[in-house]
Amino acid sequence: MADGSTARPRHSLPPRPDQAGPRDSPPPRPDQARLKQVRGFVLDMDGTLVLSDRRSHGMRPLPGALELTAWLSRQGLPYRIFTNGTGRSPGDYATLLRGVGFDLPDGAVLTPADSAADLFARRGYRRVLALGTGLADSLRSAGIEPVPPGADASNVDAVLVGLYRDFTMDALEAACHVVWRGVPVYSASQASFFATADGRALGTSRAISAMLSSATGCRVELVGKPSRHALGLAGRRLGVPLRQLAVVGDDPELEVPMAHRGGALAISVATGLAGADAFDGVPEHRRPHLSLSGVDELLAMLAGQA
Ligand SMILES: [Mg+2]
Repeated sequence: MADGSTARPRHSLPPRPDQAGPRDSPPPRPDQARLKQVRGFVLDMDGTLVLSDRRSHGMRPLPGALELTAWLSRQGLPYRIFTNGTGRSPGDYATLLRGVGFDLPDGAVLTPADSAADLFARRGYRRVLALGTGLADSLRSAGIEPVPPGADASNVDAVLVGLYRDFTMDALEAACHVVWRGVPVYSASQASFFATADGRALGTSRAISAMLSSATGCRVELVGKPSRHALGLAGRRLGVPLRQLAVVGDDPELEVPMAHRGGALAISVATGLAGADAFDGVPEHRRPHLSLSGVDELLAMLAGQA
């Protein structure tokens, strides 16, 4: 509702058309000025930087993605590509990205396997039943033994569910026996879908977690986006306080909520799952600070400020 009849405080800035009344309005929306204060970027992969098929094959960069990452490197602005995908190891995703022109080291890519490994190490876990094809490397890097489905899962400290398109009922049954012993369950992602060149692809972490939860009544703790575990790990790897991060992504349920959770700058792009109207009806304080058509627009904005 317009507040034209309300007296304007003498010392306030002129009201903006997108703001409610001056007394109870949320804090002013950060804009390009805040973008200039950003010291590190957390970039989503599928639907933000690239589109692939359902198995991360046929990857192709989205407009401006190669140029944005190269520009950030030249400017000395650190970034990490955090994908909720765990079908491959972070190093394998980095190899695929290099294959289509991105100039980045293995350590530039993070997945929920990394935030899980970081959390598990702090919780003292030593053996983890790994239900996913791209979980083992990150667990081993943290000194945790990944136990594959079908192996002896006695004495595991946790179950980690990831992207696992070839999941079987035998693996489900074995995991249920572990969970019935009281072992906690963690999920890489609770996203229903992710963006591919062929349209929406099933996020299997959620589906497998739901089966486990349905069969056992277990609680599932999320380690990927939009959890604090994921953002915290990205911030530590970048060496940047969360409030000085920008989180960029296409999924309205992942990157923008994660950014808000840590006080980071939330930037949405419309090149993946959702269009520019994705946040219609969402309360102002949960919307992206910047809604952009794609990372090409983000680069133009950044380069214009440099
Ligand atoms: Mg995405």
